[in-house]
Amino acid sequence: MRESEFILPDDCVIEEFSMIDKDGKEFKKLYKGKTGFYGDRSVASYTWAIGRHCRDCDKPTEAPYKILCEDCMQKDKAQRYNKLPFQEWDGETALCIFGTDEYFFNEDDIKNYCDENSIESTDLMLVLCGRERIPEFNIDHHLTGFWDFDSESNIPNEDVINEKVNEVIREYLKSDDMPWYPMDIRTTIKV
Ligand SMILES: [Zn+2]
Repeated sequence: MRESEFILPDDCVIEEFSMIDKDGKEFKKLYKGKTGFYGDRSVASYTWAIGRHCRDCDKPTEAPYKILCEDCMQKDKAQRYNKLPFQEWDGETALCIFGTDEYFFNEDDIKNYCDENSIESTDLMLVLCGRERIPEFNIDHHLTGFWDFDSESNIPNEDVINEKVNEVIREYLKSDDMPWYPMDIRTTIKV
């Protein structure tokens, strides 16, 4: 933390106090922050700060914990987005706006969002969504650890059991109950 990074209110003066030992020698300095006294001047500054100088352009940021100003944050986000691999949308996979929890499940969702926010669909930084990968069921693994189950032994109809359970799981994964999560794959759509 460097004190010069922070923007303090105009009337803010950081008061300095000397700690004196019994011989009258200063052994420590304390700096008055908004919420207490600190041994480090830059930490005291941070508590008074109303923003900081943007890392990239030096303009004030909105809050002391924000390293970039709003414009640079958008630029940074766009750069990270544009580095992602691109894939065409299949028309079925859910979509999400990069870095947000704004999801879309069909073209109408996107169209409505664009109308409400006066934005072109091609300007939405969309990413494809995926569904959690669930491992295949295996009766052998499922029973290991119970009673004196021996994984070397042959379970009658093992393959049939596995296939049946996996079939049900696969069907479930296709259902709407499974949540989507955004993937690092960008896409675009014109509505
Ligand atoms: Zn900036």
